[in-house]
Amino acid sequence: MSEADTLVRQRDLRADFPGLLTADGGTWHYLDTAATAQKPQAVIDAMSRALGRDYATVHRGVYSRSANMTLGFEAARRRVADFIDAASENEVVFVRGATEGINLVAQSWGDANIGPGDRIMLSQLEHHSNIVPWQLLAERTGAEIDVCPLTEDGRIDLDWLEANLTERHKLVALAHVSNVLGSILGAKRAAKAARAVGAKILLDGCQSAPRMRLAMAELDCDFFVFSAHKLYGPTGIGVLWAREDILEAMPPWQGGGAMIDTVDFGGTTYAPAPQRFEAGTPMITEAIALHAAIDYVEDAAGEGGMEALFEHESSLAATARAELSRFNSVRLLGPEKSAGIVSFVMEGVHPHDLGTILDEENVAIRAGHHCAQPLMQHLGVPATARASFGLYSTEGDIAALVRGIDRTLKIFG
Ligand code: PMP
Repeated sequence: MSEADTLVRQRDLRADFPGLLTADGGTWHYLDTAATAQKPQAVIDAMSRALGRDYATVHRGVYSRSANMTLGFEAARRRVADFIDAASENEVVFVRGATEGINLVAQSWGDANIGPGDRIMLSQLEHHSNIVPWQLLAERTGAEIDVCPLTEDGRIDLDWLEANLTERHKLVALAHVSNVLGSILGAKRAAKAARAVGAKILLDGCQSAPRMRLAMAELDCDFFVFSAHKLYGPTGIGVLWAREDILEAMPPWQGGGAMIDTVDFGGTTYAPAPQRFEAGTPMITEAIALHAAIDYVEDAAGEGGMEALFEHESSLAATARAELSRFNSVRLLGPEKSAGIVSFVMEGVHPHDLGTILDEENVAIRAGHHCAQPLMQHLGVPATARASFGLYSTEGDIAALVRGIDRTLKIFG
């Protein structure tokens, strides 16, 4: 066993995840954590308690159960702020997920700040959820979209970005970590380039939040989004972080209860941020389970903190790349140094066929375009196979993947 397994060896993290077993109690080699992470029992228990004996609405109740639930819900917001090292919990907006967070920024900030002739800078490797909301904004406002190319090894080309940003650019929106290639953005450098032309910068942190230490001030971005379900928490909740002054200046997005100060047919006034962006009954139990997920992740990471998780997953990715490179028919995509995500294609075997054969071996990989069709076009492939790691992943998972590929090659002759 290599150092990559140290984290798991110190404490059997797999045992905390009921989802990592097959139906008959065997080992399930789950290599699709970039799509969604399995849930530790602590999160399942927190959610179940919140839905059961603790359940009540938040913010409006005068009875003690509701008051306690409100405390729990707001404690979750503080926990998120602490996890990402935000200046204040008022910078944390609960949304349905990263996708909704980006749509919120595009519609609220975008409609108020983007006009005809303005430009929005994206990159070739973005997830559809960091492309389509900006295309819709461009259609509404007459803005133009530019696409930053990639380096040969699949990273966002920051030399090109620096050379091509202009004062017409009002927003730069980039993936902090690519969900297909695992490429890590030089985020501070990208933020500096955006600042130099007076543009705002949004980072899509879906793949970085579960595996990197985050400090909003250090990243120096304006908006940051992530989804709880990739961070070992529940579906249905995510986070939009934005600098307080920016959030305060943003107009309401959806209207309804909880986002108002007073409502009158003569005119309505709105609550301050973040409540202004949280219309309706919020994701109460999901927020409480997200709190439990962050507690779990930090506890699992131990003294090494999120850096240790990053090391664990990136060294598994390096091992996987080394193992896969032994197959002549495998073409590895993306940079050598990846944040726990490895994409590849096999000559003569469609990724879907590979995924189906691996499934028979209890190995779950992702096969498809990964909601990144422009990246597939760039790579010249319709789809890739992707193995992605989580804090519970082991070298045993990689060995099972390699066995499955061996078998696939035999089947395909
Ligand atoms: N961006 C990236 C980089 C992602 O990996 C994902 C999820 N695959 C998303 C955005 C969208 O996240 P969600 O579907 O949870 O809103």
